Amino acid sequence: MRAMTFKALLLDQTDDAVSAGITELEDERLPTGDVTVAVEYSSLNYKDGMILSGIGRLVRDYPHVPGIDLAGTVESSTDDRYQPGDRVALTGWRVGETHWGGYAQKARLNGDWLVPVPDGLTTRQAMAVGTAGFTAMQAILALEGNGLTAGPDQPLLVTGASGGVGGSAVLWGGLLGHHVVASTGRLENRADLEALGAAEVIDRSELAENPSRPLLGERWAGCVDAVGGDTLAHVLTEMAYGGSVAACGLSGGNGLSTTVIPFLLRGVSLLGIDSVMCPRDHRAMVWNRIAEVVDADKLDDLTGEVALADVAELAPEILAGKVRGRVVVDCR
Ligand code: NDP
Repeated sequence: MRAMTFKALLLDQTDDAVSAGITELEDERLPTGDVTVAVEYSSLNYKDGMILSGIGRLVRDYPHVPGIDLAGTVESSTDDRYQPGDRVALTGWRVGETHWGGYAQKARLNGDWLVPVPDGLTTRQAMAVGTAGFTAMQAILALEGNGLTAGPDQPLLVTGASGGVGGSAVLWGGLLGHHVVASTGRLENRADLEALGAAEVIDRSELAENPSRPLLGERWAGCVDAVGGDTLAHVLTEMAYGGSVAACGLSGGNGLSTTVIPFLLRGVSLLGIDSVMCPRDHRAMVWNRIAEVVDADKLDDLTGEVALADVAELAPEILAGKVRGRVVVDCR
């Protein structure tokens, strides 16, 4: 009998440099797991850029199939929760880092890591949401759970707004009725950000420096921060009384030099957002909320597409902050 095969973007390492190429592999090369998925789409995230560039030692074992998220159809399963033909999505669990990921026609995974794609979303739209959109919704739900309400008197700042997490937060924030203020280094994207859901757009240089004073004027009731570093330190000084910041990312640096004053004198909360290890029930709740509020046309406006063979070329671009919005990877 002829062996079953699938195409994958295989990443290999020689002399500390990584290189990627499309390779045909036999199914028996797939890692262990109880569900085999025919992958339809994956997406390109900042972390994928790091992995494709061999930065950060996120991958220890080569050869490796990257791709930190995926959506597709169950091909076979020994887990009773999944039947062949079910539509499933995966984000997180270090898939694409410590386990072969979504940049392939097939993936074999642990059933606990998967969630059903909710009705109303295609597998392509699920990856247009992807890790970035999932994280953005998780962040906004965390802010709402900590008191943020919709309306112009509760401005919601989004930093890194042209990126995947930031752009998704602008989209979800707008759809949920929040007064979204988008901070971007690319003011030429103003019209696009307004169309996506921003009520106001500001230049990220306004937030770039860590101020010498521990408190500045109260500007923000909530913040989805995809940037970290001095931007996050600045935002903390401008939070309104009782406001919260959902810290999602570090594209502007992983350090944080601040004071305790915003926490002591303004009751500010700093909420950590982790999309990687969050429990399956919480994950399903976030996906269902996404399916309830999604606007497919706006999601499509945010989304570009790339072939599996071409995704590695975009790695330097996403690391340089040059990729706008979301990019889905066609793995079929
Ligand atoms: P992107 O590269 O798509 O977006 C990042 C955006 O940040 C850029 O588009 C740019 O927006 C802004 N930016 C880039 N460099 C700088 C800089 N030096 N200073 C200030 N702003 C900068 O990445 P993602 O949106 O995919 O990810 C953003 C961050 O979130 C990453 O650190 C990623 O690792 C993290 N992340 C965390 C998750 C979690 O579970 N906590 C899940 C997913 C991602 P603009 O030009 O508009 O200012």
